[in-house]
Amino acid sequence: KGQKGGKAMLHWQSYNVMQSGVDDMVLLSKINESSIAENLKKRFMDDYIFTYIGPVLISVNPFKQMPYFGESEVEMYQGAAQYENPPHIYALADNMYRNMMIDCESQCVIISGESGAGKTVAAKYIMSYISKVSGGGARVQHIKDIILQSNPLLEAFGNAKTLRNNNSSRFGKYFEIQFGSGGEPDGGKISNFLLEKSRVVTRNPGERSFHIFYQLIEGASQDQKSSLGITSVDYYYYLNQSWSYKVDDINDKSDFQETMHAMDVIGITAEDQAQVLQVVAGVLHLGNVSFKEVGNYASVENEQCLAFPAFLLGIDQNRLRDKLTSRKMDSKWGGKSESIDVTLNVEQASYTRDALSKALYSRIFDFLVESINKAMVKDNQEMNIGVLDIYGFEIFEKNGFEQFCINFVNEKLQQIFIELTLKAEQDEYIQERINWTPIEYFNNKTVCDLIESKLNPPGIMSILDDVCATMHAVGKGADCTLQQKLCMQIGTHEHFDSWKQGFVIHHYAGKVAYTAEGFCEKNRDVLFTDIIELMQSSEIPFIKALFPANLNAEKKGRPTTAGSKIKKQANDLVSTLMKCTPHYIRCIKPNETKKPRDWEDGRVKHQVEYLGLKENIHIRCAGFSYRRVFGKFLQRCNPISRQSDQVG
Ligand code: ATP
Ligand code: MG
Repeated sequence: KGQKGGKAMLHWQSYNVMQSGVDDMVLLSKINESSIAENLKKRFMDDYIFTYIGPVLISVNPFKQMPYFGESEVEMYQGAAQYENPPHIYALADNMYRNMMIDCESQCVIISGESGAGKTVAAKYIMSYISKVSGGGARVQHIKDIILQSNPLLEAFGNAKTLRNNNSSRFGKYFEIQFGSGGEPDGGKISNFLLEKSRVVTRNPGERSFHIFYQLIEGASQDQKSSLGITSVDYYYYLNQSWSYKVDDINDKSDFQETMHAMDVIGITAEDQAQVLQVVAGVLHLGNVSFKEVGNYASVENEQCLAFPAFLLGIDQNRLRDKLTSRKMDSKWGGKSESIDVTLNVEQASYTRDALSKALYSRIFDFLVESINKAMVKDNQEMNIGVLDIYGFEIFEKNGFEQFCINFVNEKLQQIFIELTLKAEQDEYIQERINWTPIEYFNNKTVCDLIESKLNPPGIMSILDDVCATMHAVGKGADCTLQQKLCMQIGTHEHFDSWKQGFVIHHYAGKVAYTAEGFCEKNRDVLFTDIIELMQSSEIPFIKALFPANLNAEKKGRPTTAGSKIKKQANDLVSTLMKCTPHYIRCIKPNETKKPRDWEDGRVKHQVEYLGLKENIHIRCAGFSYRRVFGKFLQRCNPISRQSDQVG
């Protein structure tokens, strides 16, 4: 086996001779945050980015292309035992694939780490490895192409340059690759989570909106430019507020071609592709509609700016103006209920315009995910490998509702890791009465409860939903009420503090101060009936179909809030993951400069600490290194036992 690798093998061997730190941190002689960081640093400086803690893979972002991801490495890791080769993501991917084949059990890999730590890159390595080592055939090849091409497509629409990562995923994704009994990928399914749609209309200075907007402006043909009204990037209000247009390592022009190619591969028709771009351009033009105050009411300031979005969205220009500046309200008059048109003020009109833009964009995103899923769908599902790549933990100077949701999901994933690797293992030793000295660790369940618990005491999401349901308007007043209620009901929780602009949560990864402003509005996330009706009046069937009528029907009881939706999605995800054999990749970001060979010790130690790596190593060292359910052990090893000879 060792001869196979050729040049790349030599490369690895020369590394091996150097023996940089320890491959598996259970071999460390002293286990503390400093020695772990020291070992990772030694390896990082010698260009080893991967290290194990038993089966858990630690991956440090090198911020440069490493030479060991070629064909020869794919060959080298295939079917090899973990200890035969240096730690590598291919070893983990191979292990998942073999496990699935041998045990006929679905597997999943949970990739965690903060923004810019390398989760998306890791997810792509796993997908490409599996695609390379699994079976072929025309249909299978087609599915593989779709799986691989879904990445550039969803990144174009779902990723953006943030302060921390030039290609930051602004949505979460669980990608299940489904396999036939011969181990060939013959289907797939993507579940996407809460796209950060507010980015379409606003973002931090120095950040960009989603890549597709810049791709379209840079990459569109002359014809497309004139039919979509594409001019320079700073012409659009939605793009020119954050003063960031170009990204060093991103070529928007060639990426646009890649995005369009991906749509081809996925089988999105030329007409639908054109409609998708039309909506993207429509959103940009809609953003340029501005309002002025005339006697306390909003009036469109630049009438000429209404024509283009109306044209692109296939709606009547006058109707668009009316719906942006007024709203139908039910009123009771003399015991009779009737609808009257209420004129909006400038703030409300801008809010309505932005709500429409966000709705259009997020529905296009869902359309793309659905198209990919349709192209990969298969009838009977046997087993799958799921890859979870979700936005990383975020702490900004100003943290809003989006960060709250993102950090909540990360808190839930940390909880799975704790449940399955730290808690379950120790519980089992105790249950089986194995001599065991308990190892202390921080269980973040208390933080999850603080956020999502329904009662006794209610969690932050419950209190937020209550405030949204009881307050008629969701402006600043509601946010203040939220702040007061949080203080009153959970102010004494040990992981909660209040501060003048909001509240602080002591997350497993650090304290985050959230600004309450905007929480209620974003949680309510309403799209007024008027706007839905407006879009249903579109002459373009594709756009009309993005706003189906049944969503319009008033539901009984409380409307679904953004918070309750993400809570349900997170809990569904947890139960899906719990049904699979889990694998973990813990990504570490070595610096904030995004430069190779730059190591900030304090940052790394902090991540080592909150990821619970020390406790992970301790438990791994003290516990048994190989464990298998007895039935499976018997099934696997029986053929080599003497008894099996006799039994035949
Ligand atoms: P977010 O939570 O913001 O989506 P992330 O963890 O998904 O962050 P990535 O987008 O995977 O982060 O990585 C950020 C950047 O770091 C990549 O665009 C790439 O430039 C670099 N990078 C990450 N991993 C690797 C790797 N294994 N080899 C080379 N470069 C890498
Ligand atoms: Mg990412």
